[in-house]
Amino acid sequence: MKIVTQVKLIPDAAQASALSATLRTVNDAANWVSEVAFVNDVPREYELRKHTYAQLKEQGLGAQAAQHVIKKVRDAYTTLHANLRAGNLGRKGSKRRVKAESKPITFRPEAAQPYDDRCLSWQYDTQTVSIWTTAGRIKDLSFACAADALKVLQLHRKGESDLIERNGVFYLIATCEVPEAEQYEPGGFIGVDLGIVNIATTSTGYQAAGRRLNRYRKRQLALRTKLQKRRTKSAKRRLKERSRRERRHVKNSNHIIAKTIVTEAERTGGGLSLEELKGIRTRVRLRKPQRVALHSWAFAQLADFIVYKARRAGVPLVFVDPAYSSKECAECGHVDRLNRISQARFACRSCGVVAHADRNASHVLARRGATAWAAGRESRVPSIP
Ligand SMILES: [Zn+2]
Repeated sequence: MKIVTQVKLIPDAAQASALSATLRTVNDAANWVSEVAFVNDVPREYELRKHTYAQLKEQGLGAQAAQHVIKKVRDAYTTLHANLRAGNLGRKGSKRRVKAESKPITFRPEAAQPYDDRCLSWQYDTQTVSIWTTAGRIKDLSFACAADALKVLQLHRKGESDLIERNGVFYLIATCEVPEAEQYEPGGFIGVDLGIVNIATTSTGYQAAGRRLNRYRKRQLALRTKLQKRRTKSAKRRLKERSRRERRHVKNSNHIIAKTIVTEAERTGGGLSLEELKGIRTRVRLRKPQRVALHSWAFAQLADFIVYKARRAGVPLVFVDPAYSSKECAECGHVDRLNRISQARFACRSCGVVAHADRNASHVLARRGATAWAAGRESRVPSIP
């Protein structure tokens, strides 16, 4: 399974200007290669190299950097053509499409540059890298990352990494190929109910309250609205920084929630039953203040994190249809809209059981998961002729 890990570089002033100059140089070069590619009807990489490699070397790029620039440009055109074919830029002749087709692809001065192991080497013990720049190789360049990210890097990093710059900060984005654990046979299923008031509720009793996250989002939204009214450049910049910070915050919370849930499954030898997410936004009708809180990408991200952590740990996972899970009684199976008496409370009209609404839903999902798993196992048994 592929995991992408980002580390932040901590250069001193001289190193920072070398990194910055390097990105600008290679992206200038990429823009030139892109023009050459464009006027030559975007030839294959091999052909493009014949047109550009010698000149890039003459400009002082190393052999590796020159090849990476050429490949980066060719890959960008491949992506563009795939997008055109898929109709992502509109129909033939549409304004957007004509604009994209009528000029060479351009690269921002700080656009990502790929590095292979010959231009970039990692020293995990000292948390440093040695990296090629146009001003020579920088050794002992420190980087920062979380302890478990470092472990993943150390054990599984493979292939190329990208150097990028964002707001004057440099990052390396590394690809890690992490082996998946073998899946165990689950002793039961833990249902995971996702919601707005409670982000996640499990049938084993864990609950991640959304209160703090929602309050945070509301505050961010208020600030955003204020900034949006001002249409200055600095307001725009701060707006961007805000939404980035918010995303970071949500991502962090999602990581913690996902980890807690997967660890719980591992500890109890259970599998996880998750609701299919398509349409969480349309399914839930919202009163206005809640609209602030809900963003489908945040739920999709949480589900993604649970899936990949489960796969890494060998925890069996099934997706089940969440339809009526909030109206069905986990005890007797009676489905009734009136079972759900408020956002938080559930009282079965048939058997009289009273429960926390999200907790009840998580138990319903748990049972659906066990059923789906059993059905899947039966279907795996070869049929007798
Ligand atoms: Zn009941």
